[in-house]
Parts: sequence; structure tokens; C-alpha cells
Amino acid sequence: MQAAAVAVRSPLRLAIRAATEPLGPQRHQAGGKPVVCGCCGNEQFTVGSYGFPHVQSLVCARCHHIELFTVLPSVAE
Ligand SMILES: [Zn+2]
Repeated sequence: MQAAAVAVRSPLRLAIRAATEPLGPQRHQAGGKPVVCGCCGNEQFTVGSYGFPHVQSLVCARCHHIELFTVLPSVAE
């Protein structure tokens, strides 16, 4: 699975990600509640690219588990 995700990354996509996500892992919220990793319980995520146009993903900063959404959750304050 991870090999497929790496294959769809292009230098342009990586540059766009670096420009739009300069702060590193952040807390997010969806539906008014914090996003929590379903694998390890961590609350720090980076925005990922899943390779499908209507799928947004958050990647757990601790265990690299991917949480999928149709709308990217907002950054928690
Ligand atoms: Zn995790």
C-alpha cells in the first residue's frame, strides 16, 4: 500500500505540500470533535495525499496510520 502512495507523488505535488503545510503535525477536528488516530490514539497529524481527487487524508505523526475524509478536517485551535 505504501509503495502505491509513493508512486503517485510527483515533485510538484511535494512542493505544493511543503508550501501549504509549513507547520508540521497539527491537531485537527471533524464534526466538532478532535481527530484521534484509530490505531495509537495520537492527535497529531500531517495532511497526506491519497491519490484520489475526492479523498483527503491525515497521516498520524506517531504510527503513520491514515485517516480518510471526503472534506479535509479543520486545524484545531
Ligand atoms: Zn497513530
